[in-house]
Amino acid sequence: MTTKQYDLVVVGSGPAGSTTAYFAAQAGLRVLLVDKRQELGAPIQCSGAISRHGLTSVGIEIDAEYIHQPIYGFRILNEEGLEKRIDYRQLKPTEYGEAEDQVPLGYVVDRRRFDRYLMRRAERAGVDVWLKTEGLGYESRGAAGCTVKVKRFDEEIEIQAKVLVGADGLQSQVGRWAGMQTHIRINELASCLQFIVDRVEAEPLLEIVTGHEWAPGGYAWVFPKGEGYAEIGLGVIPTMTDHDARWHVDHFMRSSFFKERFADARILEVQGGGVPLAAPLRQQYADNLILVGDAARHVNPITGGGLHTAVSAGEIAGTFLAELINNGVSPLASELKGYQDRWYEAMGRQMWRLYETKSEIFRIKDIPERNRQLYATMSEYFSPDSQYKKI
Ligand SMILES: Cc1cc2nc3c(=O)[nH]c(=O)nc-3n(C[C@H](O)[C@H](O)[C@H](O)COP(=O)(O)OP(=O)(O)OC[C@H]3O[C@@H](n4cnc5c(N)ncnc54)[C@H](O)[C@@H]3O)c2cc1C
Repeated sequence: MTTKQYDLVVVGSGPAGSTTAYFAAQAGLRVLLVDKRQELGAPIQCSGAISRHGLTSVGIEIDAEYIHQPIYGFRILNEEGLEKRIDYRQLKPTEYGEAEDQVPLGYVVDRRRFDRYLMRRAERAGVDVWLKTEGLGYESRGAAGCTVKVKRFDEEIEIQAKVLVGADGLQSQVGRWAGMQTHIRINELASCLQFIVDRVEAEPLLEIVTGHEWAPGGYAWVFPKGEGYAEIGLGVIPTMTDHDARWHVDHFMRSSFFKERFADARILEVQGGGVPLAAPLRQQYADNLILVGDAARHVNPITGGGLHTAVSAGEIAGTFLAELINNGVSPLASELKGYQDRWYEAMGRQMWRLYETKSEIFRIKDIPERNRQLYATMSEYFSPDSQYKKI
């Protein structure tokens, strides 16, 4: 069996893993990034909405290579179609718009191209990238480091590393190797389905439709995708409905106040996946190991957005690990706790607050009242003068 040596092995080359690897390599660590897929970001399981701030705050350049569509605000709708329009071009015209001295509020990105862009950024910073390489297991040797076992194509390889980063997404296997409870209860795992459609008009705003009738436990969305395409999707909590997400998308398209708008829709692609609307993991570290991104449930429990939170956590993780290893500190759990503390200060506290808000709303038994609360919270969340710090 071949043996290799690195400071860090990162399992999972989604936004969280690539960003962790990039920041660690920038600071001088020897980093190996592996992903079991042969094509990054594929099959797509994401609508791709991310704020401009979410990109620029971690130094990701705004690049046409991965952008489908600039976004300027939101339309939040209640179950009957009453809307709150939050168009930043009108609310903050000196900042947001199409003119040269203005910028978009955010973007809908193409996850295939976005993931490749981030992976290439990491690779150019010195990260070794192995695709079609599956993480199989890890063994901690405490202060001496750890052994990570991977399978690259058909070859099993052992890697000696100081730290293993689990950026392997929902219900992380890497976390389980260290005995962490990464399983998500079904009542906190949104089942999401979206269609990429032609012949549906969409403004450059993210449309979010609340209401138990359309998306029990979640919400429905219509996002513009550029080139005249749109995404129509929704997430539902399986324990709150007798139907699956497919049934709900059909019901939303055929029976909602948007039914005439959707009448000519042609479905070009079907995408789906799970989104954790759960609290972040209480412990995101073990001896020689940390978790980042979806693996640690770094997902906004109100919006289900996990891109901004993945790349932000990736920056915190990569920078923290570089400081630790460059200073010769043993990567034991007691030291790696510092990563989680830093993450908690930067965004964890706010995630917990959002989780509590979400849980309070979905504990309400009276459906019309629950609908009112969700609509009010969503409208408030996306407003410029929101009480919530955006994550
Ligand atoms: C339908 C849908 C729509 C969404 N829309 C949005 C949106 O509009 N905006 C937003 O912010 N978020 C959205 N999300 C959430 C977002 O996609 C995730 O939060 C985000 O992808 C998390 O990034 P990550 O890097 O943590 O994990 P992932 O992107 O899941 O990457 C994990 C990687 O790990 C690899 N991997 C797993 N196990 C192994 C292993 N053993 N060995 C090697 N590699 C492994 C996988 O192949 C994968 O490439 C959506 C999710 C869904 C399902």
